[in-house]
Amino acid sequence: MSATWRKQAACRGIDPDVFYPISDEEAGEAKSICDQCIVRESCLEHALANREREGIWGGTTERERRRIHRQRRKSA
Ligand code: SF4
Repeated sequence: MSATWRKQAACRGIDPDVFYPISDEEAGEAKSICDQCIVRESCLEHALANREREGIWGGTTERERRRIHRQRRKSA
């Protein structure tokens, strides 16, 4: 939780509920914040490495992260 990238996160101070939408269809607001975030890559890699199940990380939903895991397994 003390990773330096978090200090530069565009989502700092924003209501965390935005990043835990009840459905993928409601993820747009979080994703647009991630689009502006300079630490998006670090955030996404953190979520992938830690198998974060809930919420939007690095502009991805849980479903999208599962897809990335599958693609990486295939190309490994
Ligand atoms: S990519 Fe999104 S969730 Fe990750 S730190 Fe940036 S704004 Fe926050």
